[in-house]
Amino acid sequence: MILLLCPECLQWREPRDASCPICNGRLDQYLPDLMHEDVASGIGDWVDCLGECDVVRATLPRRGLLHLTTNGMLFVPHRSIVFSFDVESPPPASLTARVLSALAMPVRKLHAWLMKEDGAIVAGSSRPLKVDGHDRFALADLLMSDPGVLFVDRSSIVTWRRQRRRWEFLRSDARWLPEKFSPRGRDGVLRLQQWLENTACLLNPLTP
Ligand SMILES: [Zn+2]
Repeated sequence: MILLLCPECLQWREPRDASCPICNGRLDQYLPDLMHEDVASGIGDWVDCLGECDVVRATLPRRGLLHLTTNGMLFVPHRSIVFSFDVESPPPASLTARVLSALAMPVRKLHAWLMKEDGAIVAGSSRPLKVDGHDRFALADLLMSDPGVLFVDRSSIVTWRRQRRRWEFLRSDARWLPEKFSPRGRDGVLRLQQWLENTACLLNPLTP
């Protein structure tokens, strides 16, 4: 499994037929790197933190904090899943893709996978992850450096459904976002509801 940061929806996704499974934009390893400024303007500035939130998804970290920006929601897991490498042994060119492909593996398998490599990789450990600065460029750094960080553009959400504290979001193409969001506190639930109802969406909302 390879995860790439989609230039259209700004989400880390596994390409399918060189396309993003979420927004259908082009997504493959041959795209030029995203510009820091473009990612920053896509995310917008930090507005608020709704507190602890669980995000139900298959392989990436699930527990973290849910932030609001001027353009959408930014989930930041408590721990990074980016691994450290020996700086004296530069990683091979395809390292990013190879490391990200390992993220789908359980930690024990990942460690074994690292040990099989040619010596460039000497250690693998996760580190605490948090929003460090509230301007859009700091948020862009965070998103671009860790596939566990998830951004959802507010304008891509046309409606939502809620089962107790678990939220699902429907996109403009009538497909549900695969991740489900569960704010842990009652306050977070209420504030998420308020934000969804009170922020402008350029698309026509559907009936939940
Ligand atoms: Zn996309």
